[in-house]
Amino acid sequence: MPRIFCIGRNYVEHARELNSQVPAEPVVFMKPPESLVPPGHTVPFPAHGDDLHHEVELVLRVGSTAGTGQPTLEAITVGVDLTLRDVQKRLKAAGLPWEAAKAFEHSALAGEFVPVTPRINPDRLSLWLDVNGERRQSGNTEEMIFSTTRLLEHLASIWRLVPGDLVFTGTPAGVGSLAPGDEISAGADQVGSFTWRIGA
Ligand code: ZN
Repeated sequence: MPRIFCIGRNYVEHARELNSQVPAEPVVFMKPPESLVPPGHTVPFPAHGDDLHHEVELVLRVGSTAGTGQPTLEAITVGVDLTLRDVQKRLKAAGLPWEAAKAFEHSALAGEFVPVTPRINPDRLSLWLDVNGERRQSGNTEEMIFSTTRLLEHLASIWRLVPGDLVFTGTPAGVGSLAPGDEISAGADQVGSFTWRIGA
């Protein structure tokens, strides 16, 4: 089971839309490995909150660290960091950890991974998210505050990264609410697009 690292506030416009400060170093949180949902699955609407938000994100998979001790980027995909915004607002206001808002069951949607080749620049990929066929988010990873290399270096300064570790790299602006029955499609250049449905 891969560990799932997530980065918050990695796009200036998204930090602004949530009235959050632009961070001086990456904001890191984690989701349990069991929260991962492959494409094509239905995601039950969580019972402990009301305002379920989509956050489309580039997802990194760590490769071998052999020799250098530095993590390499092996593969990428596009994913959705599902967030209970009402729960997060309450926790933030109280200065409490975010797990109930971010790390619940079925909260980490990830597409199929494609190997990183010299043709792929993970720091210049457009990514988007549609809900019921309507565009809700579009951005480009070149807008990230911390590059993919910088994120891996930062994580490696805290954890010993191992092959298979996943990193959700933060969302561009345009996050919004989901309702039971919605169909989400998340896509990125060079990666493709993947679909999930929100259940009742
Ligand atoms: Zn996120």
